[in-house]
Amino acid sequence: MLWHAPRHYFDRSHVTPINQLVPGQQSTIKVVIKAVKVDTTRRGMKIVRALVEDGTGMIYALWFNQPYLKRSLRPGTAVFLTGNIQSSRGRLEMTVREHEKVEGNTVLGAARIVPVYRATEGLGVRNLRGIAYQVLQDYAGDYPEILPAGVRERHDLIDIHSAWWNLHFPKSSTHLEAARRRLAFEEMLLWQWALFSHREQRRKDSSVGVPHRGGQELVKLIAKGLPFALTSAQARVVREIFADLAQERPMNRLVQGDVGSGKTVVAALAAVRVVGGGFQIAFMAPTEILAVQHYQALASVMIGTGIKIALLTGKTPAAEKKRIIADTAEGRIDILVGTHALIEEQVSFARLGLVVIDEQQRFGVRQRASLAEKGTVHPDVLVMTATPIPRTLALTYYGELDVSIIDEMPPGRKKVKTIVVKPGIKQRLYRFIAQTVAQGKQVYVVCPLVEESEKQDLHSATTLRHILANQVFPHLQVGLLHGKMKSDEKEAVTAAFRRGEIHILVTTTVIEVGIDVPNATVMIVVHAERFGLSQLHQLRGRVGRGEDQSYCILVSDPRTADSWKRLKIMEKTSDGFEVAEQDLALRGPGDFLGVRQHGLPEFKVADLIKDTSLLDAARRELAAGSIERELLNDLLLLQRDFLSHYANN
Ligand code: ADP
Ligand code: MG
Repeated sequence: MLWHAPRHYFDRSHVTPINQLVPGQQSTIKVVIKAVKVDTTRRGMKIVRALVEDGTGMIYALWFNQPYLKRSLRPGTAVFLTGNIQSSRGRLEMTVREHEKVEGNTVLGAARIVPVYRATEGLGVRNLRGIAYQVLQDYAGDYPEILPAGVRERHDLIDIHSAWWNLHFPKSSTHLEAARRRLAFEEMLLWQWALFSHREQRRKDSSVGVPHRGGQELVKLIAKGLPFALTSAQARVVREIFADLAQERPMNRLVQGDVGSGKTVVAALAAVRVVGGGFQIAFMAPTEILAVQHYQALASVMIGTGIKIALLTGKTPAAEKKRIIADTAEGRIDILVGTHALIEEQVSFARLGLVVIDEQQRFGVRQRASLAEKGTVHPDVLVMTATPIPRTLALTYYGELDVSIIDEMPPGRKKVKTIVVKPGIKQRLYRFIAQTVAQGKQVYVVCPLVEESEKQDLHSATTLRHILANQVFPHLQVGLLHGKMKSDEKEAVTAAFRRGEIHILVTTTVIEVGIDVPNATVMIVVHAERFGLSQLHQLRGRVGRGEDQSYCILVSDPRTADSWKRLKIMEKTSDGFEVAEQDLALRGPGDFLGVRQHGLPEFKVADLIKDTSLLDAARRELAAGSIERELLNDLLLLQRDFLSHYANN
């Protein structure tokens, strides 16, 4: 309950007499209801209209679309009302935002800044307020203060007891902010401590790994066979990885590179190095399509080297699966590429030397860890992501990983031209698609939904495919790809698109990660406002993979100015980092690709964007050892919620 922070507050520290109300202002009044009625406007809107009085005057209070309120607003009831004052035909009225009966413990509910909790079933707002008060009285005093006075002074933080009281029943808005800061600091501190101790533990557990120093000849051979030269960023990252591999301490490295920067080949070279020394590789991708693609890419690079590669996914036929599992367990397979199927219990490796995880943001911490436990020794771990972690998150997110960044695109790539358009220009879009196909290129059309939904008036991939195939482009091949299809169907469609047999691929976000078809040069995203910017950036990364000019057309109804503005960012920048930072600023970390996926806890009061400086401060104090470990550990235990959340990721 202490951490059950109020959802928002209701400033009732100033109650205004009715005869002093001013139009245009938000005010709180304390009144008695005289009469109530429900009006219906010509357009069918219901308005509850209550005449209220406070001894200095009378005014109408209005509630829109809540006719059921009439029952509880009985004449004679005393209520607090907060809302906007406006004047209508020369008289003042209030559009009510919040109302609450004056009853019971008015010390908690009135004449102050009042906490509003998320009401849960059976527990109304006022009950929760009473419970919060009780909990504070009973427990706030016993809550351990872990910050020594020096730390509090350095960062201008109030003591924990005042913080608890002022979070729930703030004396003023200044007190409230001071409470929020203090508790935000505490949350950040505990989170960082959890990460820190986790990492320390892991260092202890896995201090002994295998140095991989062989395989140099094989690497040279394969590098020579590549159809391109590595970019200098790729070469640098390969060197960083090789240096890690050569050490006894297991590698734990994240390779981050924007979509299309060429991460796969970097992982392939790392794999070759490890195979060369006689060890096996587990190479895991989040989707079937991607696993197949990696399997094919690796297999083609390694032709003639004698390296044995196999593919294991949920769809591998039982007999073949059995054989692959046996061959892996007995060391006859060098590189096993696959999906989540790799972490199934039966899968084990004779000499697992390296774990590669592509698009690692798609996996949880647990899934990554369980793959690393498949061998008899501690394998090296290489994870890859195109998710540009904004700087504010990087600090924390990278907590336990070393990071290599591929900050350069292969030569000859042109920027994808991005344009935001309104749905009205359909015919022009169709002509553009037709021209593109006539030039021998291919087109993606991305939809947010698979099937038509009753609630929302959105085109689904299925319908759109139907329209395009039958009405608009009857002479072209229009394919359909979405997550609900069977995986052999998905594979067949992807393969046909790759071979150029499908001209237009209507799809959902299943193609968001990793798919590599350089001949596809146009992507049209319908209902673009339904996607996050980072997601759009990932989608956009599917085009612009060859040397031709590519286009990304975001179709959106600009009904809300905000979402239009958001999409316009995509026109301006093609830099994943910048997109991510803007996205983060606009949506907050909670929405940023899903908190859980990132292993970030959901903070109760802290805000990763606003409170970056507190986070820095917390990290500095931890590093300086100014806070007793025992206290930190005790508090972590106390915060089981918090811990289990972290561990569950
Ligand atoms: P991502 O980093 O998004 O996973 P990929 O590894 O799929 O990117 O590479 C994207 C495309 O770029 C592939 O077609 C790949 O063959 C190609 N590629 C990778 N490195 C280079 C390079 N140095 N020069 C030219 N093309 C490259
Ligand atoms: Mg990739």
